[in-house]
Amino acid sequence: MSSESTICPNCQQTISTNFERHILFCERNISLCPKCKQPIQKTALEEHLAAEHEEIECPNCYALVDSYFMERHQAEICPNRKIGTCPYCDIDLFLHSPENHVEQCGNRTDVCDICGGRIRLRDKEAHFLSDCRSHVIVTPPPEPTRTPPPQSDMAHFPSHIQPSDAPPLVGPQMKKETEPSPRDEMEELFKTTAETMCNTFTALLEQKKKEDQATQRNTSELSSSGYSITDGSGKVVSINL
Ligand SMILES: [Zn+2]
Ligand SMILES: [Zn+2]
Ligand SMILES: [Zn+2]
Ligand SMILES: [Zn+2]
Ligand SMILES: [Zn+2]
Repeated sequence: MSSESTICPNCQQTISTNFERHILFCERNISLCPKCKQPIQKTALEEHLAAEHEEIECPNCYALVDSYFMERHQAEICPNRKIGTCPYCDIDLFLHSPENHVEQCGNRTDVCDICGGRIRLRDKEAHFLSDCRSHVIVTPPPEPTRTPPPQSDMAHFPSHIQPSDAPPLVGPQMKKETEPSPRDEMEELFKTTAETMCNTFTALLEQKKKEDQATQRNTSELSSSGYSITDGSGKVVSINL
């Protein structure tokens, strides 16, 4: 009865030599701790139980737990075990922590150290990456957007038929006009002095009309039936087509 290695039925240790001598000694002196199953000298068992197996209160669930198993209890068993850390205030989060703590915590605001702006904690990272820089680099406020002047609508027209600041469309005679011309007279002037231009102009107006209808815009001086120009004396005259 001298096998190379045998497990002692008393202490559960692997015994490689003198098994018979070991088991005589072991059964007389060693016992397994009833709680942790470690082999302990019989004379030291009381001490071991007092030192290693004191019942203490779990700080998270308030249950009395064998101190020997507290670490495992808190990691795996505790009904209020830690499940993480709040990214905003660094407190530990437990199973019983308010479910919306992280959400509420992230909604708190704080003053940005860099730009002084008040920002939500959960926006802090994005703020540093984008907004914050625009706060620090003071940029002039954007020009107030106004409705574009009429000529901007006509910007794609050739400059020689731009309506407002361009030379009068129909030549020097227009300057001498003091009253709005009747429609027929205007048409006559238009035909005789700028017939070629008129053809181009009409084509462009047709195109413009289509664009305007397409975009539902009716803000320029151009209407579906006519066109207003300002003559050299600053007087607005209408051309109906
Ligand atoms: Zn043994
Ligand atoms: Zn023990
Ligand atoms: Zn616990
Ligand atoms: Zn928090
Ligand atoms: Zn900032």
